[in-house]
Amino acid sequence: MSDPRWERLLTEMRAAHTLPELAGLCDFPREPIAQATAPHEIPASELLQVEEGLTTAHFTGFRDALIDAAPLAHWRETSKGTDIGGEFLDRFGCYEVLGEDAPYACDTMRCFIIYAPSDLYYPWHHHPAEELYLVLAGEAEFFIRGEPPKILRPGDTVFHESNVPHAMTTHDHPVLAYVLWRGDLETKPVWTNQEALQ
Ligand code: FE
Repeated sequence: MSDPRWERLLTEMRAAHTLPELAGLCDFPREPIAQATAPHEIPASELLQVEEGLTTAHFTGFRDALIDAAPLAHWRETSKGTDIGGEFLDRFGCYEVLGEDAPYACDTMRCFIIYAPSDLYYPWHHHPAEELYLVLAGEAEFFIRGEPPKILRPGDTVFHESNVPHAMTTHDHPVLAYVLWRGDLETKPVWTNQEALQ
């Protein structure tokens, strides 16, 4: 039996997977197996829990469930050991909800939440997994190599093809997004070097 906060979050996720963009990506597991994960908080988790800018019309329940589960989550140290600066490390937040090391086991996809406060740049990166972002609250500007940048707001999605570099920045608002991976679920993202963006 998992913590009721995870159960509530799972219910919100399942509901979101009825959206056509999500339903078309991967079937949501019927009864994902709950598994124990050790909480690991980072500064971004605390920022999220006091954040006041995450406005949304359609995803208030999903947003609140993600925030309530924050103290239980194993937050990732996304750029630890790379040359990306400490400010990013301290302010960008990501935790996994469904997947290999997540509170719910799944071997066909991985589901994460990401949080960025206002005025944070998430640099260019790529990975073999195909990726779908659904913005839940707030807004951010998304970049894909070779395409014009787009501001995405709650309910908007963006799809990142395998190994195509992408980046994101927030401006006056924070952003909370739900992120799905399918395909190669094992290979970690790498920062994209400048030459690959020309
Ligand atoms: Fe990505």
